[in-house]
Amino acid sequence: MQVLDKAVEETAEQMEQVEAPAKGSPVIHYFKSDLRTKDNRGLSQASKLAQENDVPLVGLYIVSPQDWEAHNTAPVRVDLVLRTLSILKEDLAKLNIPLWIETVEDRKKIPRRIMELMDKWKARHLFANLEYEPDELRRETKLVRLCASQGKAMTVVHDTCAVPPGELESGSGKQYSVYTPWFRAWKQHIHDDEDVIGIADNIAKVSDKISGQLPKELFKSLIPQAPKGKRLTDEEKERFRDLWPAGEHQALSRLEQFCETRLSEYADNRDIPSAGATSSLSPYLASGSLSARTVIHTASDRANASNLNGGSNGFRVWVSEVAWRDFYKHVLVGWPYIAMNKPFKADYASIAWATEDSDAKFEAWTQGRTGYPMVDAAMRQLLNEGWVHNRSRMVVASFLSKDLLVDWRRGEQWFMRHLVDGDVASNIGGWGFSASVGVDPQPYFRVFNPYRQSERFDPDGEYIRKWVPELVNIEGNAIHEPYARGAADEARQAGYPEPIVVHKEAREAALTAYKRVLGKE
Ligand code: FAD
Repeated sequence: MQVLDKAVEETAEQMEQVEAPAKGSPVIHYFKSDLRTKDNRGLSQASKLAQENDVPLVGLYIVSPQDWEAHNTAPVRVDLVLRTLSILKEDLAKLNIPLWIETVEDRKKIPRRIMELMDKWKARHLFANLEYEPDELRRETKLVRLCASQGKAMTVVHDTCAVPPGELESGSGKQYSVYTPWFRAWKQHIHDDEDVIGIADNIAKVSDKISGQLPKELFKSLIPQAPKGKRLTDEEKERFRDLWPAGEHQALSRLEQFCETRLSEYADNRDIPSAGATSSLSPYLASGSLSARTVIHTASDRANASNLNGGSNGFRVWVSEVAWRDFYKHVLVGWPYIAMNKPFKADYASIAWATEDSDAKFEAWTQGRTGYPMVDAAMRQLLNEGWVHNRSRMVVASFLSKDLLVDWRRGEQWFMRHLVDGDVASNIGGWGFSASVGVDPQPYFRVFNPYRQSERFDPDGEYIRKWVPELVNIEGNAIHEPYARGAADEARQAGYPEPIVVHKEAREAALTAYKRVLGKE
């Protein structure tokens, strides 16, 4: 954490040492996961510097196929990012700001390439919002150093969280690893200093005269195709474009619509996957079409809440969910090894995952053919929409790691490869929670019963019927467990598989495996 603070401080010092931009020398904003023009702190600061010095502003985005591969980024997420870039480019062009998009195949060369572009454009000032994944932080450090060694200035800005990592410390001066006390501190911090979630100033339109100083070609870069291995079929493209329309205007209107129609009831309905009661804003927060500050402000405004403890119960609970996103980013900064395939709790690194049939079980899980209707519904929703309801994510993650005793990291990667909102910190956090290997004080012996979860959160089987058509005609309670509740023939005839494990036995096996690494057996 100190390293981060130091980097932010150093870049501010660098900024003071480098002379103001000379006439015609543009200021650059390096876009990453902040693909929006509104409430974007780095972009806003870059715009101010450009305005004060009457120089142009240029947006830069580097497409890195290796980064997408390294992070297991899903094709649906790549597609959303590329579509978002196209809209961002249009929005910026209206303000006379070009967005230069370039593909760099070797990701190690990105910092040098940025320096070359700055030289070509005679730019000396670079702005970027910080990203907190270890690879990205490493790259940022390299960029800061390169800038310093070449008489350029880089300014890195905390923007992606509502409360930046490092701001909150427990009583003993340490980073929190438990959500509840962290959340109290998070709310208090915002309460004490509203500026923490202050909306960044809008960026100003650049005059024709000033933007005219830039080479025309800067306005003409093309949106690249998705790299091989990350391409969607035509049918998928169409489906995902309808489900996830791109850009900040869409994101803002979805936010408004959610606040108007579902926010006040959120607390009551949010756990029911078939209810459509949540915001579905995660893809937009992940790609940065929306900021966490904007969603909090908009929701508190529409809920007439004077502070985060006010407004409707729906509002308060929703903000506590938005806070989970911050929490997991703070955790990632505090314990970066969790992004390197290691569980937060070191003991759990040596769990003896099942070896027998584990590939077949994993395959059945990925395709929604486990014989557990709620699990199968969720896994098919993932394949179909690139998104899954939070309750369903917890159920399938618990099922893979506990019932099937398959290494949770395989599931974590599968999620990243298919989620439109795939986010390193939240995904690892969610898997850590569900597999009991993460920061949360969830005991290893808490194993979700997939049948009970189904009865509780999909009581009428609406969610199951939507995603598992083989069971569409099964009536009543049998929908949750057709082979044991009198609907075996119907299920078999429709081609629905029998359960691949017996929950009770699987639970015992999981408890034994977890206990063993804790020396309790
Ligand atoms: P809403 O309920 O409307 O919540 C609003 C916003 O708050 C969300 O968009 C999201 O940004 C944030 N949020 C809500 N719940 C959580 C949570 N538990 N953890 C972190 N942020 C939260 N979320 C991702 O954004 N990316 C992931 O890759 C991801 N992987 C997950 C994996 C597992 C195993 C689990 C259990 C959860 C995961 N989540 C992930 C968290 C959560 O499931 C999604 O954020 C949520 O379902 C998104 O739907 P929504 O936008 O309708 O959420």
